[in-house]
Amino acid sequence: MEVTGIDDERDFYRAFTDQIRQARESLWLWAPWVANRLRSLLPELRDAVARGVRVTVFIRDDTDKLQRQDNNQSLIADLRAVVHTVVPMYVMHQKIAVIDERTVMLGSLNVLSQHDTREVMLTMRGSYFARKLLEHEHAEVFARPPKCGRCKGTEIEIRRYKQRNWVWRCYATVCKTTAKGSSNAWTQDIRLPGSR
Ligand SMILES: [Zn+2]
Repeated sequence: MEVTGIDDERDFYRAFTDQIRQARESLWLWAPWVANRLRSLLPELRDAVARGVRVTVFIRDDTDKLQRQDNNQSLIADLRAVVHTVVPMYVMHQKIAVIDERTVMLGSLNVLSQHDTREVMLTMRGSYFARKLLEHEHAEVFARPPKCGRCKGTEIEIRRYKQRNWVWRCYATVCKTTAKGSSNAWTQDIRLPGSR
């Protein structure tokens, strides 16, 4: 694995755009917040998808007060319309991009929402490391949420509990059948390869 770049918030987007344009097979993103920054990246993501690149994005769930804002909700809808898979994760905070299972961009920057903060991102090249990181983040498993076992819907997020570890959880409002709300949500343990 070789570090091929160190970028601040100004240089990162040129480097990132280059990477998206070079992508041939897959783009994985862990980008907690979706905000106005998405507007400039959406055409790049759309082109990548049109070229046959499989794009999967993990974002923070809607209980977050920034993510819940109407503007951001509408941008998330735009994102969902363009990319293959968007999976929300409760209190997600990783910031990662993995391109073609070979190039990793990792650091402090929220790629779909950065606005005016100071940041640093490393670009690293190496298939072994890229795949190791995808495995560490359970990318393949987490990108395939099941349908809700109660409402049969597809509004499924990921949470991590102290006792049960990783679970799928339905966040559809129609599915929460008691006035207590979230405590009654449908959940299912996520089975990870190699775990018991
Ligand atoms: Zn449900």
